[in-house]
Amino acid sequence: NYSNGSSDDATSLVEIPPPKIRFTKLFIGGEFVDSVSGRTFETIDPRTGETIARVSEGDKEDIDLAVGAARRAFDHGPWPRLPGAARAKIMHKFADLIDQHIEELATLDSLNAGKLFAWGKAIDIPSVANTLRYYAGAADKIHGEVLKMSRELHAYTLREPVGVVGHIIPWNFPSTMFFMKVSPALAAGCTMVVKPAEQTPLSALFYAHLAKEAGVPDGVINVVNGFGPTAGAALASHMDVDKVSFTGSTEVGRKVMQAAATSNLKPVSLELGGKSPLLIFDDADVEKAADLALLGILYNKGEVCVASSRVFVQEGIYDEFVKTLAVKAKDWVVGDPFNPKSRLGPQVDKNQYEKILAYIEHGKREGATLLTGGKPAAKKGYYIQPTVFTDVTEDMKIVKDEIFGPVMALMKFTTMEEGIKAANNTRYGLAAGIVTKSLDTANTVARSIRAGVIWINCYFAFDNDCPYGGYKSSGFERDLGLEALHKYLQVKSVVTPLYNSPW
Ligand code: NAD
Repeated sequence: NYSNGSSDDATSLVEIPPPKIRFTKLFIGGEFVDSVSGRTFETIDPRTGETIARVSEGDKEDIDLAVGAARRAFDHGPWPRLPGAARAKIMHKFADLIDQHIEELATLDSLNAGKLFAWGKAIDIPSVANTLRYYAGAADKIHGEVLKMSRELHAYTLREPVGVVGHIIPWNFPSTMFFMKVSPALAAGCTMVVKPAEQTPLSALFYAHLAKEAGVPDGVINVVNGFGPTAGAALASHMDVDKVSFTGSTEVGRKVMQAAATSNLKPVSLELGGKSPLLIFDDADVEKAADLALLGILYNKGEVCVASSRVFVQEGIYDEFVKTLAVKAKDWVVGDPFNPKSRLGPQVDKNQYEKILAYIEHGKREGATLLTGGKPAAKKGYYIQPTVFTDVTEDMKIVKDEIFGPVMALMKFTTMEEGIKAANNTRYGLAAGIVTKSLDTANTVARSIRAGVIWINCYFAFDNDCPYGGYKSSGFERDLGLEALHKYLQVKSVVTPLYNSPW
């Protein structure tokens, strides 16, 4: 039975009009160009494993060209010198153009990453236009401050764009990640090279095209698709890149930081992996808590850095919670991302699919019990059933490692202190959730968990104004909010004597 408890088999392929793949080359200096080597790589549809298109494969030489274009646009171009309001006007136009192409963009991300088309259309794509608008609103409010010096000196700070930025991004939210990086950097007056993930090269190229149409000057945004160890590594170690902003796994984050340190010592910001806990207390409404726990691990088929992959339930409601969760998990229909009934699409690619299934097998071997799922959800394509493990102990691999799939580890705790200790027992520190009616419990737990985002009685409550990022091995610095603007700015102090005093 591949239908995952649901009466329909939603994984049957939904026939969609053949998508137009308009852009497959690299975007450098305002033009779509072939890679220097002429090489291309295939990008696949995870619904079938079949090729959607072949895309130009960038390598070191292409990164050199793209960084050169970004350097010229920074050193000699208008972008960093434009008044903030003028940059904002172009960014607003860019956002409006995205709004005019929502369906086409959502289709590209669904085809390329297995993301639900309906959600992409309603959430991901409109949200990225709003991220651009949020930072456009900040572009003319970037200023330093006048300092109160201890001697007769007049001093002030300037906030200047950091320069040429390299953005290296993952595949799980191709559009969201692109704009979390590009929007604040544009507002700050930086120029940039984006290296999308090799699994999802398509929408970034479309955005490059729209940027040009909106009036973003040539060389300000360059997009070089290619693989991590070649194109990604060349960007991270480039001597003429002033900053690298990376989102991806902790393992690759380490390499990026090393490459930055051993090249020109460029600053890096790292948004890395997670194994986020959700703590559900005895006073919680069990139905709502179960819904939240399932959303936390099954949204975007668990391919979410902040997914609530470790769920801790207090002992008083544990048994009832387990029963409720098992019933509700059946509502999460696995299916074709273009089928409106589907709530989970296929995993992004074969590697990810096999990695998740291997973790499930490992969990079973370690002695955990499958409450739900645990198997492929279709004969074709990279679909996996929503999977919940019970009888889990904190030393198991399925509790320690980021699986990045629809796999929940469910555990029981007794006291609040024990729950906090277990939640913090991880090398990661990206997000955490708390479900309780008690303000005291919520406040105490929120301050005790070492993670960058805490959601109380909600999950995935993202907002452009709300910074997020990690503690511990989940990285440092923040995306979103005005915090993210600051990572693309340098502070310069300017000092001069007062009253013409001889110095
Ligand atoms: P990944 O680390 O494998 O790849 C991320 C990017 O780095 C890709 O563009 C890849 O090509 C590039 N890359 C790979 N090797 C490189 C190298 N040696 N030098 C430079 N670049 C290199 O991650 P992924 O599999 O694409 O994404 C999943 C991971 O991303 C998960 O760990 C997830 O938690 C994390 N993630 C974190 C956040 C966050 O905000 N903290 C958000 C989304 C995803």
